[in-house]
Amino acid sequence: MRGRLGGENKPGVQSGMRVSRLELFDFRNYDQVHIEPAAGLNVFVGANAQGKTNLLEAVCALATTKSVRAGRDNEMVRFGAEACRIVAAVVKETGSGDTLLEMAIGAGTPQSTAERKLVKINHGKQPRIADLIGHLNAVFFSSLDLDIVRGDPSERRRFLDYEIAQVSPAYLIAYAQFRKALEQRNRLLKDIRFGSVSADALDTWTEQIIRHGARLMERRRSYITQLAQHADTVQRSITDGAETLTVEYCPSFVIPEGAVSEGDIAEAFRAALTAVRRDELARGSTLLGPQRDDLLFRVGSDAATATDVRLYGSQGQQRTVALALRLAERRLLEEMVGEPPVVLLDDVLSDLDERRRKEVLALSLTGGQQTFLTVTEAEALPEEARNAATIWEVKAGVVTRRGE
Ligand code: ATP
Ligand code: MG
Repeated sequence: MRGRLGGENKPGVQSGMRVSRLELFDFRNYDQVHIEPAAGLNVFVGANAQGKTNLLEAVCALATTKSVRAGRDNEMVRFGAEACRIVAAVVKETGSGDTLLEMAIGAGTPQSTAERKLVKINHGKQPRIADLIGHLNAVFFSSLDLDIVRGDPSERRRFLDYEIAQVSPAYLIAYAQFRKALEQRNRLLKDIRFGSVSADALDTWTEQIIRHGARLMERRRSYITQLAQHADTVQRSITDGAETLTVEYCPSFVIPEGAVSEGDIAEAFRAALTAVRRDELARGSTLLGPQRDDLLFRVGSDAATATDVRLYGSQGQQRTVALALRLAERRLLEEMVGEPPVVLLDDVLSDLDERRRKEVLALSLTGGQQTFLTVTEAEALPEEARNAATIWEVKAGVVTRRGE
């Protein structure tokens, strides 16, 4: 079965990018940590609540500038500290030498939603936070991935935003601008409803959400088109050809057939907003746009008869889809950036059956790709993986290499 997912174990396969050094300061439950992860499989072993997930979150934060967990980024600052800092040296197979990445996040005040963030590359302060994008790529497999399939649409949007932000600084910037414009527009809609402002004031913000929103939607749609192909291939592979998987982008308004460019989507968005203007004024909120996007996953023996796995899928099928999405994401990232990303596996092995476990571990045991895997007991790992791994023990925010 090995190597079926894209020939990971072919001779001469790329081992991909890796984090050769990771330092954390006042990050979550870590006061200060300095580790030098190995090139291949790194296993982080520890009891619950010791900081295993936090460590992976730090790597993800450098890949996306954001926290992978819900909530605000300043939650990553250790309780009582003023700011946290994540530093990593990244070695790319396609690059020369290592790049030193650094992100600092200020705790801010409880009242303020603005977080002070700072990004440095090779010690140089960058003008934009988004400048961090592209230096490190990571795929985060989590035991919570089932929520992408089973949870609210917001989980699926978060999945999408995370993935696209990692390859597109323009997306990250458009996202921030869209959120800001949407907030303003919603506030204004409420004021108009209460009669304190005239409805004419809305136009500026309508144009803003159309402009940034159309950019987000265009990127989301084209990303999904690419992801869908990989997801189907992976699904067939995991199920031995028994199941196909279709992934569809479902916006909150109809985009006409053939409308593909950002401009086309903007036009459809404008028309749709005009049609619901009266409703929006009555309800005091923006009713259409990327903040209402969803994804549909259909599974079946063929694409024509496949059904919505969220509604009709068994638990096992839903789990397989969640895994297929992450494996697909990993392949797509490799295709987009030209080398395999770092693979982060958080607490996933216990949820997988033998077959899927092998499928996931094959990623890290072949080709020497860098993998960070968390477990509560090293014994949970197959012997083959344990022998190949560098094992780290995580205890109350202290990380030590086993055997040292
Ligand atoms: P599990 O095996 O249960 O998944 P884990 O080792 O992955 O555990 P983490 O999720 O990394 O544990 O969290 C470790 C601890 O970090 C938790 O006890 C949590 O209270 C603490 N923590 C989270 N955020 C902060 C913060 N901002 N400041 C200080 N501690 C924090
Ligand atoms: Mg955890």
